[in-house]
Amino acid sequence: MSTNHPALPVAVLGAGITGLTAAWQLQRAGIPVVVLEAAPAAGGVIRSTRHGDWLQESGPNSLLEGSPAVAEFVDAVGLGPRRLYAADSAKNRYVVRDGRLRAMPGSPLGFLRTPLFSFGAKLGLIGELWRARAPADREESVADFVERRLGREFLDYAVNPFVGGVYSGDPRRLSVRHAFPKLHALEQKHRSLLLGSLKQRNTSGGPKGRIFSFPEGLAELPAALARALGDAVRTSHRVQTVRRSGDRWEIDGLAGGVPRTEVFSAVVCALPADALAALRFEGAPDAAKLSALREIEQPAVVSVFTGFRREDVAHPLDGFGLLMPEVERRRILGTLFSSTLFPGRAPAGHVALTTFVGGTRSPELAALDDEALRRLVREELGALLGVRGAPVFFGVTRWPRAIPQYTVGYARFKNLFAAAEAGAPGLFIGGNARDGISLANCIESGRRLAEAVTRPRAT
Ligand SMILES: Cc1cc2nc3c(=O)[nH]c(=O)nc-3n(C[C@H](O)[C@H](O)[C@H](O)COP(=O)(O)OP(=O)(O)OC[C@H]3O[C@@H](n4cnc5c(N)ncnc54)[C@H](O)[C@@H]3O)c2cc1C
Repeated sequence: MSTNHPALPVAVLGAGITGLTAAWQLQRAGIPVVVLEAAPAAGGVIRSTRHGDWLQESGPNSLLEGSPAVAEFVDAVGLGPRRLYAADSAKNRYVVRDGRLRAMPGSPLGFLRTPLFSFGAKLGLIGELWRARAPADREESVADFVERRLGREFLDYAVNPFVGGVYSGDPRRLSVRHAFPKLHALEQKHRSLLLGSLKQRNTSGGPKGRIFSFPEGLAELPAALARALGDAVRTSHRVQTVRRSGDRWEIDGLAGGVPRTEVFSAVVCALPADALAALRFEGAPDAAKLSALREIEQPAVVSVFTGFRREDVAHPLDGFGLLMPEVERRRILGTLFSSTLFPGRAPAGHVALTTFVGGTRSPELAALDDEALRRLVREELGALLGVRGAPVFFGVTRWPRAIPQYTVGYARFKNLFAAAEAGAPGLFIGGNARDGISLANCIESGRRLAEAVTRPRAT
C-alpha cells in the first residue's frame, strides 16, 4: 500500500458510482476505507424509483458494456444474474429530420437507402477516405472535426443530436480530443475514420458492447456496492476541508450537521467538478488551485418521465428512442422509449417515455416550472410520436449541474488534476470531470483510483 499509515483508513469522498467502485476495490484489497457522502443516500446521480408498476430512472438510464471489465465488475459485485440487456426491439435509434423520425442506418445498404442524409452528403463521404489527418497537437472542436472530415450534414444530423443526447452539449464548444478521445485517436492512427472503423471492426471481431440495466433500475448497482461496504459508507456527511498534515490527512466536515474532524492515510476524491472546486485544501497549494474547476461548464438538464396508455401513442416505439438535431429547432434534446428498452418500466397496456430538456442548447427551458414542462413535453411528443391526451404518470427531476463539458482547452483542467496529485502524495482524484462522463468511464475511474492507492509509492 502506498500510504505510510496502513492502520488509518483511506477516505473516499463521494458515494456516486466512482467513489463506491473505488472503495469496494480497496476493501477487497484489505485496505480500511471510509466513504463520506453529503447526500442522505449513496448512488450519486443514479436514481431509480419504483412507483407501483412504473420504474422511473431520474438520472442515467442504461450502462454500456463496452469492455469486458464492466461485465466482470458487475459479475464480481454479484449482479451478473440480474443484468437485463436492452430488448432487440430497441435496436432502432431515431433522429428527427424535417419533423419526422428517421432510423439511423445500421448497415451499408441501410446507409445508402436512408432519407436521413441527402445523396450529395452520402457521395461526399467517399472523399473522407483520402482526407489528410490533422496535426496531432491541434486542439479542435467536435464540430470543426466532423465538418472537416465528414461534412456539414453529418454534423447536423448525426453528431449534433448525439452530442445533445450524451453531453446535453454543443459540438461547437466540446473538444474532440477530450470529449471523444476514441474518435480523435481513430483519425490519428488510421487517418480516415471510415477505414479506421472498418479495420477496428475486423480486428476486434465479436459483438459490439451491449446496453444493460437491472430489473429495479441502475440503482441496483450502487445499492449492491453500498451493501457490501456496510458501515464504511457514511451518508449525510459533507466534507468541507481537506488538510495535509505531515504524511496524514485531516478532513473536516459536517456529519449530520455536526462538525467533525477525522484523520486518514490517503484521500480519494470522487466528486463532481463543482463540489471538488468548493473544497478547501490546506497544506497542499497545488490542490488549492482546484478551485478553478468551478469554470467547468455543467449545464442544467431536466429529465421528464411520462407514462401514457399504449393506445394514446401512435408510434410503434420500436427503438431506443429519438434524438433531436439542433437545426430542427424543437424544444427537447431527445426522448428514450424506456418501456421498450427494458421490461418492468410501465404497467401492462402502458408505455414509459423519458424526455430530456435544457442543456447547453436551451438552458432557459430547464428553468421552466413543472406545469410548463408538462405542456412542452406533451406538445413535442404529440407532434413527434402522435401522443394524445394527458400522461397518466408524470415525474420531473432537475439536474442544475448535470454533465461536465469537456470544452476546447480542457487540458488546463486535466493539468490541474495532475499537478494537485503530484504536489500532494496520498491525494487521488477521479470522477466524471477527469476520466470521462459515462458510467463505464466512472467504473473504470474507480478501479484506476483504487489501483493508484495500492501501488507502492515511488520514494
Ligand atoms: C441526467 C443524466 C443522465 C445520464 N445518463 C447516462 C446514461 O444513460 N448512461 C451513462 O453511462 N451515463 C449517463 N450519465 C452520466 C453518469 O451518470 C455520470 O457521469 C456518473 O454517474 C457520475 O458518477 P460519479 O460517481 O463520478 O459522480 P456523482 O454521481 O455525481 O457522485 C458524486 C457524489 O459526491 C457527493 N458529494 C458532493 N459534494 C460532496 C461533499 N462536499 N462531501 C461529500 N460528498 C459530496 C454527491 O452527493 C454525490 O453523491 C447521465 C448523467 C445525468 C446527470
